[in-house]
Amino acid sequence: MNQKKVQDQLKRPLTDLRISVTDQCNFRCQYCMPSDVFNEAYPFLQNKELLSWDEIVAVAEQFAALGVRKIRLTGGEPLMRKDLPSLIKRLYQLPGIEDLALTTNGVLLPRYAEALKEAGMNRVTVSLDALDGTLFGKINGRGIGVEPVLQGMQAAHEAGLAVKVNMMVQKGINDHEILPMVRYFKTSPYILRLIEFMDVGMTNGWQRENVVTKAEMLAIIEQEFPLMPIAPHDPGEVASRFAFVDGENELGIISSISDTFCKDCSRARLSADGKLYTCLFASRGTDLVTPLRKGLQGEALRSFLQSIWEKRTDRYSDERQERTGTKKKIEMSYIGG
Ligand code: SAM
Ligand code: SF4
Ligand code: SF4
Repeated sequence: MNQKKVQDQLKRPLTDLRISVTDQCNFRCQYCMPSDVFNEAYPFLQNKELLSWDEIVAVAEQFAALGVRKIRLTGGEPLMRKDLPSLIKRLYQLPGIEDLALTTNGVLLPRYAEALKEAGMNRVTVSLDALDGTLFGKINGRGIGVEPVLQGMQAAHEAGLAVKVNMMVQKGINDHEILPMVRYFKTSPYILRLIEFMDVGMTNGWQRENVVTKAEMLAIIEQEFPLMPIAPHDPGEVASRFAFVDGENELGIISSISDTFCKDCSRARLSADGKLYTCLFASRGTDLVTPLRKGLQGEALRSFLQSIWEKRTDRYSDERQERTGTKKKIEMSYIGG
């Protein structure tokens, strides 16, 4: 594969593409899609506004030609979009794509895990914020217990998919669940990753005081489990990796508040309605759907994508301290994390 290497203004390559396939979700996590905002009156995208599989594949193909090697599908809840495996099959066949992953709340995995694996998916990340069923039901806003999510992980594992677990930590909400989660997943075949609560979107009531920092998480875990830092798999990796000193398993911490990683950020994000974002915290994306539906394709599409990446200067997390916090930002359920 003759991949072209493009770089943005800060000399960051383009290696990862995150594709949100839907803004719908079967959960109403308080920090992401609070049910009082995301209710029947909420203007979710209409089907005709969503990028079709043909359109997603056309864009992904040109991204692959520009250097993208990893694609992650997300949402909303990506498994709620009909026939996801047929998209995966087509993405898997694109020259240059080495890694296909999915982020999901897990409850639909028992139904789809095998088809995902057969289609070419390598791994899944399943979100689970607590092991306490009552608390988890409150956080997900739908009263859904932990068992369906654990069954989803099990189904993925049995289908041959590598599984990581994302726990988003909020002070005073689920930080007391850090140790139970670490204890549980340390002895499992899954790698746990703890995520600092981020100021994404406008609806989650984010406040700096609600963030449990990476240093605080490490202090909690090391009360019981000594850890040692280990090298990242690759430079663009967002999680800091730690091995348990006893040699059993590892864990990751994603610290986009207290220990930012903009300098290595090599991700582009495509929203379900076809806007391209070069930062998770962007206020505005570039409309791709209009030019696509007017016939933009092939090399012309590639040059357009390249020009967007080459102009990129985003380093929101690095600049967070200097910002006012009043700027309109897009929602996590729309762009997918
Ligand atoms: N529905 C899928 C899921 O929950 O895994 C995929 C989409 S969800 C937006 C992707 C990830 O973003 C989840 O792990 C979720 O916990 C995380 N997330 C959502 N809002 C967040 C926030 N404000 N800060 C940090 N992580 C967040
Ligand atoms: Fe849905 Fe995922 Fe957002 Fe929870 S975090 S509301 S599961 S999109
Ligand atoms: Fe990348 Fe933007 Fe996050 Fe920085 S703030 S790591 S540029 S997505």
